[in-house]
Amino acid sequence: MFKVRVNEETCIGCGNCTIICPKVFSLKNNGKAHAKSLTNEKCVLKAEKECPVKSIEVTKV
Ligand code: SF4
Repeated sequence: MFKVRVNEETCIGCGNCTIICPKVFSLKNNGKAHAKSLTNEKCVLKAEKECPVKSIEVTKV
C-alpha cells in the first residue's frame, strides 16, 4: 500500500501524473493535482519520479 500526497503549493498542474497514473491522480478545478491518499497502484512511484517539480510524495505503508 502507498500513501500519496501532492504539494499544492508547488504543483504546476502539468497533468503528467494524471496521464501516468489516472486511477490515482486527477486535476482539480483550481488546476492542481489531487491524489487518492491510499492506493495499491504501483504507477504512483513513476508519477512521483516524473513530476517536473517534485510535488508528489509517496510513502510505503
Ligand atoms: S506531475 Fe507534478 S506538477 Fe504535474 S500535475 Fe502532477 S503533481 Fe502537479
